[in-house]
Amino acid sequence: MAIEKKDIDWGSLTFAYTPTDFSYVCNYKDGAWGEDILTPDHTLQLSECAGIFHYCQEVFEGLKAYTTKDGDIVCFRPDANASRMADSARRICMPPFPEDRFVEAVKQVVKANLAWVPPFGSGATLYIRPFMIATGNVIGVKPATEYQFRILVTPVGPYYKGGVQPVALKVPEYDRAAPHGTGNIKAGLNYAMSLYPSVIAHAEGFADNMFLDPQTHTYVEESGGANFLLVKEDGTLVVPQSATDSILPSITRRSLVRVAEEMLGMKVEQRQVRFDEIDQFVECGMCGTAAVISPVGKVVDTEGVEHVFGAGMEHVGPVLAKLRETLTGIQAGEIEDKFGWVVKVA
Ligand SMILES: *Cc1c(COP(=O)(O)O)cnc(C)c1O
Repeated sequence: MAIEKKDIDWGSLTFAYTPTDFSYVCNYKDGAWGEDILTPDHTLQLSECAGIFHYCQEVFEGLKAYTTKDGDIVCFRPDANASRMADSARRICMPPFPEDRFVEAVKQVVKANLAWVPPFGSGATLYIRPFMIATGNVIGVKPATEYQFRILVTPVGPYYKGGVQPVALKVPEYDRAAPHGTGNIKAGLNYAMSLYPSVIAHAEGFADNMFLDPQTHTYVEESGGANFLLVKEDGTLVVPQSATDSILPSITRRSLVRVAEEMLGMKVEQRQVRFDEIDQFVECGMCGTAAVISPVGKVVDTEGVEHVFGAGMEHVGPVLAKLRETLTGIQAGEIEDKFGWVVKVA
């Protein structure tokens, strides 16, 4: 089936919103989710009293559809996004969207926008943003009784234009989440909380923050929107864990851990990592759907002391480079997917 692609210079797209042909919508009312709707209308009309505006019931997901080497249109582990979104919803008293319907909805909306899926080799992808909001009226503090689950898709450019370049981070004076709060769910409210320290970090020339645990400010947690990976001198991959449930369970991170252990035969430690251990690591990276792994060259602590990782500011270290190459190879259909992670849409 030949699809007439949109006339877009895929390589020059950035990470910005372009409306496509259809969005997916499903409404929740009277205790039940309704029918699937594909709509060309990319706007919403809501009551001024809708719960989203007052008590911030909103959760979201992020994944991508792209074209493999063989020309298939695929998504990466949409079932994992479905289950994480259901966890996020439950935590803030929203009705979880059924996980099987989530995966079907992703497929439907991608199929309805095939002309917007960038071709193989362009580096661009169709970013998929499922989200759910409280649409029902709420004035006294309580969960709403009506919700909308929606998926927008938008083509985005390659994360790295002109090569992967390590970035600098700072340890901020602020936290992105509270101990045993909502840091482990994907909710917009966490981003509201981390915007201010993020704006400060950018103004000071840093790419992002390295947040420490909100209880003791002793352990490494995550950045504004990505988990950390660290590599010891002997090649062991060290993955920070939170004693206060304030790290978001990144699907990329969980996938990389399995690639490291089951494909690359690496040793992996998943444990709390004290910030004062940081100088012992030779590589550091941030991981998430968008970039898979972005290398971190250095971190500046709250006293202004620079901690430069062994791999430095010029190059990605060899261990994280290998991990990134392997996972992106699986995603692109160039390396065998023995995990069954790549799901064909069309
Ligand atoms: C989405 C997100 C990540 C990355 O998760 P992936 O599933 O790998 O894309 C990491 N941290 C935060 C705070 C996030 O919101």
